[in-house]
Amino acid sequence: MRFGTLDIDDRATVVVISDDGQQYREASELLPGFTGDMTDFILRQPAPPRDAGTGTWKPINGHQLLAPIPTPRRNIFCIGKNYHDHVKELSQTGLASAPAAPLPSAPIVFTKAPSSVVGDGAAVQSFPEVTSQLDYEAELAVVIGKPGRAIRKEDAFNHVWGYTIVNDISARDVQQRHGQWFLGKSMDTFCPMGPWIVSAAGVDAGKLGVRCWINGELRQDGNTRDLIFDIPTIIATLSSGMTLQPGDVIATGTPAGVGFGFNPPKFLKPGDVMRISIDGIGTLTNRVS
Ligand code: MG
Repeated sequence: MRFGTLDIDDRATVVVISDDGQQYREASELLPGFTGDMTDFILRQPAPPRDAGTGTWKPINGHQLLAPIPTPRRNIFCIGKNYHDHVKELSQTGLASAPAAPLPSAPIVFTKAPSSVVGDGAAVQSFPEVTSQLDYEAELAVVIGKPGRAIRKEDAFNHVWGYTIVNDISARDVQQRHGQWFLGKSMDTFCPMGPWIVSAAGVDAGKLGVRCWINGELRQDGNTRDLIFDIPTIIATLSSGMTLQPGDVIATGTPAGVGFGFNPPKFLKPGDVMRISIDGIGTLTNRVS
């Protein structure tokens, strides 16, 4: 099932979205009296409902789809250099933070500020006064349901509530200048997320096609089977000393084909349309402004 957040009468409302993506039912039909946000919903439903209930479907048309978790409680966790082919392309760019080393020996973890999150269709600001190397990264993102610390790999999927798409927008020059990725990846609008969360049941996250088009040109065409560190390893690593919380979002890394990986590089410019599709999850589209 798909769960999203719709702007209904200026209120971020948690909804169930129909399989065709055209209609919704308010989550309050599943949880009478519920008025919270998506994180509250996950806290109340640590395992996603499997039944959309019996309420009336209403057309989404006319309501803006927000990020499924528009105001995360804490930073978005991200894994860097987590696809074999992406590590290879970075090692060929000479990026200071990407030495021509072989594969990382442990997951590389950084975060994005919660304030960077925007939804499907929202504009991504280009910040020309701050960066001249704006880039995209198509990523499968995990949404945590059941909290836990020291989660074992074999239990990891029991803690996954669902999956969504994140575009890990990155200012490469800012990344390099500051020797740490947070600043270059946390600017306002730098974390498009959505269009919704697909509940984990029925999703085989280990073999999903991840594709990204810029102005219709296919740039990234990867598959999660090529992850260097798989989702159980990522969850075990993150939770080793830190309790993962319901509503935490983990972006699992991006395959090859980012703008910085081309020679010459293909950085984003105002007007560019970024479209990311992940098998079984959906399509996330954002324009650079
Ligand atoms: Mg990334």
